[in-house]
Amino acid sequence: SGEPIDKGNEDSIKVVARFRPLNDSEERAGSKFIVTFPQNKDDQLVSIGGKVYQFDSILKPNVTQEKVYNTAAKDIVKDVLNGYNGTIFAYGQTSSGKTHTMEGVIGDPNLQGIIPRIISDIFNHIYNMEENLEFHIKVSYFEIYMDKIRDLLDVSKVNLAVHEDKNRVPFVKGATERFVSSPEEVFEVIELGKSNRHVAVTIKQENIESQKKLLGKLYLVDLAGSEKVSKTGAEGSVLDEAKNINKSLSALGNVISALADATKTHVPYRDSKLTRILQESLGGNARTTIVICCSPASFNEPETKSTLDFGKRAK
Ligand code: ADP
Ligand code: MG
Repeated sequence: SGEPIDKGNEDSIKVVARFRPLNDSEERAGSKFIVTFPQNKDDQLVSIGGKVYQFDSILKPNVTQEKVYNTAAKDIVKDVLNGYNGTIFAYGQTSSGKTHTMEGVIGDPNLQGIIPRIISDIFNHIYNMEENLEFHIKVSYFEIYMDKIRDLLDVSKVNLAVHEDKNRVPFVKGATERFVSSPEEVFEVIELGKSNRHVAVTIKQENIESQKKLLGKLYLVDLAGSEKVSKTGAEGSVLDEAKNINKSLSALGNVISALADATKTHVPYRDSKLTRILQESLGGNARTTIVICCSPASFNEPETKSTLDFGKRAK
């Protein structure tokens, strides 16, 4: 449609690139660590194959999970509690560190990732609030697989539809919403969902301030691997699956790049279920962080470059 879209300011999308260490199988295969980090005061540069990329932050292989949280997620939590929408997603090829970044080792204070830290932080903010506010926090957990939305909290719901509310804000109709009142309850919900999943997480928090209702929605998304179909050697139904994943990731890339391009007036949210669902939580007034996850190994150089190029489209 030709409606004007409030794309907000250009900084509403933050791109952070994280590089994991070389892993054992890469070392055994003789793969080299081919990424370098040119000196620069804000840690914003990375160089690979003679090409230098700049992002809002670069997270080197030795950074702690706490540093990742502080860089990628901390500010968004405050904004969501103040009624803004947000999305944090991890993009990268399989085994680049997406799940380690988003989830990490839940229950391990050092190794826990962004999602458990966000949950603790949300409740800490609420417990420490001086004003007498009433908060309602709801969690949904679903995955989009082969362009079908499956409810991970109720396995009987295998093909949920995306509808729009009266303000034309898209939502997943019929998704289970669990009210939670402590971090432990959220972790129980996540554990239940994980046992049912194939791949994405959504946390919606809603706070109600006396008469005024603030509604903030936060999507936490662990995307499918971005590797090229040709590299996977897939055939038959696995090939169909891979093509489908590539289609929804490229729809996400197109939306991100349209949001970043001031000359584009059309953002193609409607091209995939993922981008429809995220519509109100990407760009505009929403807070978005993309964590670009990369392997540093020579073997993965083409994939790492393509991942960095995806991140560049958002800037
Ligand atoms: P993905 O979700 O992208 O497929 P994972 O997060 O599962 O990848 O990571 C693959 C493996 O590498 C896991 O065993 C994970 O623990 C490990 N790993 C990933 N990132 C790091 C990191 N920054 N430091 C140490 N180990 C990591
Ligand atoms: Mg994963």
